[in-house]
Amino acid sequence: MSDALIFLGPPGSGKGTQAVLLAERLGIPHISTGDILREQVAAGTELGRRVQAIMSRGDLVPDELVNEIMEQRLAQPDCARGCILDGYPRTTAQAEFLAGVLEQRGLRPVVVNLTVDYNVIVARITARRQCPACGASYNLITNPPREDERCDRDGTPLVTRADDTEPVIRQRLEAYERQTLPLLDYYRRKAARFFEVSGDQGAPEEIAQRILALLRQA
Ligand code: AMP
Repeated sequence: MSDALIFLGPPGSGKGTQAVLLAERLGIPHISTGDILREQVAAGTELGRRVQAIMSRGDLVPDELVNEIMEQRLAQPDCARGCILDGYPRTTAQAEFLAGVLEQRGLRPVVVNLTVDYNVIVARITARRQCPACGASYNLITNPPREDERCDRDGTPLVTRADDTEPVIRQRLEAYERQTLPLLDYYRRKAARFFEVSGDQGAPEEIAQRILALLRQA
């Protein structure tokens, strides 16, 4: 039986990076509802027009819409050998719907919860800098510019994005917690295969290896 890996983790935990790395390693598709919705908005489809305003407020798109998108996506042949779900489910109603679809498709749910200390996340995100001229991204801790807070390409003084400040990040972390705690409860109650992985320390590659080792025992 193939696995559907359900990735959970707060913003700034490196969840997206891990999902991409593991999809590549395991040779299975990485399915991000955020990416799918953004593509629809960019393409100006009917669905895109419906979700645009909701997404720009940072609110959740209605369950029926994302459920339908995911039901169709999981029916594609490339999911038969398994898949990585990133950003879905976000609510208990979505988790219940997903359980039915996975059963129908013969996929086994495996939950990976990437935990990172919130202070580490705040430190990581507040260290982000951007060049206002060319858009290049830096991180004062993990990817610093050669010269003190100036762009390597054009020497422009770097800036911090308005939403990369501590109060905004703490607010996003609280919102994430409110959304995700019921999901964690749901998966615990269902006694699903559930792994907790610390993403506090180590390069993305090391963390990916840790997750792969756990999945081998799943
Ligand atoms: P993300 O890239 O995962 O942060 O998602 C970006 C936006 O897409 C979110 O803020 C929501 O508006 C929408 N979205 C993505 N996934 C879901 C989901 N599972 N349920 C509801 N809305 C979602």
